[in-house]
Amino acid sequence: MIRTGLSILSPQGARARLSVFIWHRVAPSPDPMFPGELHAERFVRTLGWIGRWFNVLPLDEAVRRLSDGTLPARAAAITFDDGYADNLTVAAPILKTAGMHATFFIASGYLDGGRMWNDGLIEAVRRSPLDVLDTPQWGRFPLGDWRARETAALRLIDQIKYLEPAEREQAVIDVARAAHTTLPTDLMMSSAQVTQLHRLGFGIGAHTVSHPILAKIPLARAREEISAGRDSLERLIGARVPLFAYPNGKPGRDYLPEHVSLVRELGFDAAVATAWGASAQGDDVFQLRRFTPWDADRLRFGIRMAQNLAQPAREALV
Ligand SMILES: [Zn+2]
Repeated sequence: MIRTGLSILSPQGARARLSVFIWHRVAPSPDPMFPGELHAERFVRTLGWIGRWFNVLPLDEAVRRLSDGTLPARAAAITFDDGYADNLTVAAPILKTAGMHATFFIASGYLDGGRMWNDGLIEAVRRSPLDVLDTPQWGRFPLGDWRARETAALRLIDQIKYLEPAEREQAVIDVARAAHTTLPTDLMMSSAQVTQLHRLGFGIGAHTVSHPILAKIPLARAREEISAGRDSLERLIGARVPLFAYPNGKPGRDYLPEHVSLVRELGFDAAVATAWGASAQGDDVFQLRRFTPWDADRLRFGIRMAQNLAQPAREALV
């Protein structure tokens, strides 16, 4: 019944719609600090539903067939953003078993021991041996249980996100010190892990070097971030990297029309945003829509995907 509904909303050919899934991390087991986050068992279940209801294609092939009007009914592609190590260690084997392709958009500057500032705060709070985290600048946070740690991490992120990048990095170091923790160096992939992902047949996509919000930095720096990120991934895997994902990806807020032109000018074939919905033939392939279904229940998940497909197509992004 769900498949019939999805076929009506997402037929084959010129009226086809392309659903693109976006995820970030897949934990090996449920994360007590963020119980709603994706983990291996839930990912297996989710891919089971996707395999039943969708025809999963590699994203680059799906984009070509969207333009040609040759997509199958219920076409979908799977993507992951940022370059977490669990994408290789947890997600890739599950995808292989399910026989599904995925494209991994990787911020090249965090490979080999780096991490994004927000993850630095989360891991500092997660690993702290203290019952109370006392920071001179950001306040006092009880860490008595996982719920308290979740709240502490989210409140720290909220305060620190408005700082300039260099101050933000310093704030993460200060919080880790106050928390009596050392930060992990294996949260993101190593260069060798990216190569391995590529050798397994998965897609590697560009996602800038340091994950800046493009709309907030000068255009010349945006160009440098986008092209240098792509170039280092191409050197690493020895192959062309034809796809790009805008950091954070909300049209008009995280990226602007000039960034869409920039990505096209730099020679990419297509780019993905994080606006919900599914793309149709004639939509801008440099602003493909993506969606994260969050339901853990089969029927709700199916209905959520149908609702995502039923959103109006061809509505302008930026
Ligand atoms: Zn990202």
